[in-house]
Amino acid sequence: MSDCIFCKIVSKEIPPDIVYENEMVMAFLDNNPISLGHVLIVPKKHYENIYDISEDYLKELIAVAKKISLVYRKVFEISDLNLIHNAGKNGQQVVFHFHLHLIPRKEGDGVDFDNKKFPELREKYDEFIEKIKDSGIV
Ligand code: 5GP
Ligand code: ZN
Repeated sequence: MSDCIFCKIVSKEIPPDIVYENEMVMAFLDNNPISLGHVLIVPKKHYENIYDISEDYLKELIAVAKKISLVYRKVFEISDLNLIHNAGKNGQQVVFHFHLHLIPRKEGDGVDFDNKKFPELREKYDEFIEKIKDSGIV
């Protein structure tokens, strides 16, 4: 997509800080990092998010996330991380080219994804599970 910032990065029209690259996937450092090593793992083909990406690309992205995790652990002794995909406006997706955030974590880093909890939602679980069963998911 011509107006997509990540397509421009993937084509190297905008030069990225590449952590890893193969025929399907590029991983480059986020330009507004939450921690050192915060990397975005991106398909080279344009997909918006989880809803339209092909399973082949998704599998490859997860495999690359695993590869980077292992290398980070070996090289930087980073053994804690968050792997996040934001989808849609309310999911706080800003760039609409699929990406996984791999965010290295360490004790006392000041990052906190521990959000407000809503225990009252458990009252809706029975109905929720019924609807999932009715959907034919299994
Ligand atoms: P999300 O869409 O999941 O909210 O996050 C988009 C991420 O892309 C942000 O963390 C942001 O810092 C990063 N980002 C946006 N534009 C660029 C860019 O031009 N280069 C790089 N390296 N990262 C970018
Ligand atoms: Zn794109």
